[in-house]
Amino acid sequence: MAKEELECSFCGRKKPETNLLIAGLDAHICDRCIEQAHGIVIEESKQTGNSELSSELMLRKPKEIKSFLDEYVIGQEYTKRVMSVAVYNHYKRLLQPPSDDDIEIQKSNIVMVGQTGTGKTLMAKTIAKMLNVPLAIVDATVLTEAGYVGEDVESILTRLLQAADYNLEKAERGIVFIDEIDKIARKSDNPSITRDVSGEGVQQALLKLLEGTTVNVPPKGGRKHPDQKFIEVNTEHILFIAGGAFDGIERVITKRLNMQAIGYATIKSDVIDKDNILQYIIPKDLKDFGLIPEIIGRLPVLTHMDPLDAKTLRAILTEPKNAIIKQYKKLFEMDEVEFSITEGALGYIVDKAIEYKLGARGLRSLCEEILTQAMFDLPGSGETKFNVTKAYAEDRLAKSTLKKLKAVS
Ligand code: ADP
Repeated sequence: MAKEELECSFCGRKKPETNLLIAGLDAHICDRCIEQAHGIVIEESKQTGNSELSSELMLRKPKEIKSFLDEYVIGQEYTKRVMSVAVYNHYKRLLQPPSDDDIEIQKSNIVMVGQTGTGKTLMAKTIAKMLNVPLAIVDATVLTEAGYVGEDVESILTRLLQAADYNLEKAERGIVFIDEIDKIARKSDNPSITRDVSGEGVQQALLKLLEGTTVNVPPKGGRKHPDQKFIEVNTEHILFIAGGAFDGIERVITKRLNMQAIGYATIKSDVIDKDNILQYIIPKDLKDFGLIPEIIGRLPVLTHMDPLDAKTLRAILTEPKNAIIKQYKKLFEMDEVEFSITEGALGYIVDKAIEYKLGARGLRSLCEEILTQAMFDLPGSGETKFNVTKAYAEDRLAKSTLKKLKAVS
């Protein structure tokens, strides 16, 4: 074919009428047709739910999600299973193409009840890491009803947008972890006695977000004002995970269990595991604690964290992928010091964490107390080995912060 006769094989435009004509094996395509085709591809993929992001979002089966969690989180078997299924269903729901039957899969927002330092935040972080979706961690205590001093609930979405580098599509598939959800519980079960604005008002404001709605979000945060530009965020596909210690909820659960023991007992009082009352939690207990029924309904997956016993704390020190001890090993390695720690010293650290009621959070501060002196002395000293024994750990703690740690507990 002579050069001047070249034309687009799709629309028939001659080469001079196009900005660009790309040659294929036996055909040519012009810039306009490429643009049109691209539009069709985008449209199609939206309809089949197969957009670029969807393929980026690797949906793993619940068992695979659980194994991923196992690498980072010790114990918490029940919550890991529940979370694996909830997360799987959530992302299955958002990846599925629209269908014409009327079955609409509802959101599987999650509420985790467990003492502080038992791994609630870690669980949310690990899920977000696995899915490669943005994660916003927010503290419910700073949220207030619109018009009061504090942050509007919309600020949650500002954080998520920031975590997604302002990629709206990514943010709309992200995860929000709302910590300390128990702190916005109504103070009394009887709304007419205590009209607790900060608590119930925030719960009301949260409802819409949890359910799925479009919210005008100030991209840089702060209070809404008239001439601010907003980003419209749809929360329909955002997974909300709420967590809280719900201090005192054990009493609510125990009371209910005792009542059941008198009536038609489902759990006999003599088989109740008194060391882990949280495992018997049901949604009604959250209501009795002060969450409004609508919030509970929108957090349909309820799970509990087990208290961390000595065995679990010991494992947390060395087993997770980025276990604390592994981190110190690496730090010393950078100074060409081979770091080791005896079983006795590890056991001692665990005992102290329990004694001071510091939980897993305390493991880190205890290690820091014990190792800081060495981390100061060893670099550049020519030493190539550093072994921490129980006696060394005891000595360091006695010298430094015993008082300080005790004051914290
Ligand atoms: P929570 O959100 O329940 O208060 P975090 O998830 O913030 O607790 O945990 C506090 C610290 O303890 C984190 O450094 C975390 O790595 C560690 N930790 C807590 N529980 C576990 C666990 N089950 N497995 C591994 N690490 C844990």
